Amino acid sequence: DTEVIATDVVIVGAGPCGLFAVFELGLLDIRAHLVDILPKVGGQCAELYPEKPIYDIPGFPLVTGQALVDNLLEQIKPFGPTFHLNQMIASVEPTGTAEAPRFRVTTDAGTVFDTKAVVIAAGGGSFLPKKPPIPGIEEYERGGSVFYAVRKMEAFRGRNILIVGGGDSALDWTLNLQPLASRVTLMHRRDDFRAAPHSVEQMRALVADGRMDMRLGQITGLKGENGKLAAVTCRDNDGGSFEIACDTLLPFFGLTMKLGPIADWGLNLHENLIPVDTEKFETSVPGIFAIGDINTYPGKLKLILSGFHEGALCAQKVHRYVYPDKRLTFQYTTSSSSLQKKLGVA
Ligand code: FAD
Repeated sequence: DTEVIATDVVIVGAGPCGLFAVFELGLLDIRAHLVDILPKVGGQCAELYPEKPIYDIPGFPLVTGQALVDNLLEQIKPFGPTFHLNQMIASVEPTGTAEAPRFRVTTDAGTVFDTKAVVIAAGGGSFLPKKPPIPGIEEYERGGSVFYAVRKMEAFRGRNILIVGGGDSALDWTLNLQPLASRVTLMHRRDDFRAAPHSVEQMRALVADGRMDMRLGQITGLKGENGKLAAVTCRDNDGGSFEIACDTLLPFFGLTMKLGPIADWGLNLHENLIPVDTEKFETSVPGIFAIGDINTYPGKLKLILSGFHEGALCAQKVHRYVYPDKRLTFQYTTSSSSLQKKLGVA
């Protein structure tokens, strides 16, 4: 039997808005679990522009994407949020009533939550791997031969691996898996890589030593039986074809953002965004909220500061669901000793 995690709130997405929602919920004694598909927190700030400066976070004349995320993590530490990374929220099923909502939330890694509210802070949607356009590839994904991420390196020990791509992920996994694998081949369309120069040098040295192979070309098809890969058929740049024997294929073609499973949760949607009211940031389903880039309302600006404000307001309504009998009084962190106790500073 799967263990069910009981919590007040599940936050879908650990981008800046999901992270700050932990703070606003925490001040109201509401516990949260955060789930993100990526192996790290920080959403777009950490994934797309960690080293770029942001100039419009109130009170920070300049802060990089990663520094903002690091500060948010520091700020929410007193509330001890639990992170479930590397997993996608796949389903959200209502199990309560409109007055007392409750949800059963499950991830694609098998984690199950029983929660009183859901805060969707899913940004531009799920970061999902771009897949090579090869018919029938799904069968090999299910068969344990094709992977778009490495969750446990040990699972690849002794395998004959073909890695495809020319960016940092392709090069990093080539170097990391080469010592474990029975053989690693790296294939890219051209002899020019977009990865860190040092990684490219290390890879070329391994090839020169005969400890791995590098090929130029593109995948055209997969060969095998019952989802077990035996070889990959390829085309070179002159139109010739060749085969590479392998039992494992790791294509690293980058990430794209798609709405993903959120489309199936019974919410009203507008052009892949979730309409909310601007008092509570609640969706068409009571108990499910949407904040940050994923929501829409008249005048919406896709800015981090808007998402912070939205988190503060949605927490007020979440409080009514979690503590239906408690009255909420407005307090400042500067002067409230009860808030300061929660923050561990009093
Ligand atoms: P995101 O940061 O998109 O995070 C959402 C997270 O949810 C992702 O990590 C995703 O993996 C996860 N997720 C989605 N679906 C699921 C699911 N089903 N299960 C689990 N996890 C899921 N904004 C500014 O205010 N100022 C700027 O200067 C600025 N500069 C920018 C520069 C660039 C290059 C870019 C790309 C954006 C910039 N932005 C800026 C926009 C800003 O980054 C976004 O507004 C902000 O990241 C939105 O935060 P979020 O938490 O709503 O979503």
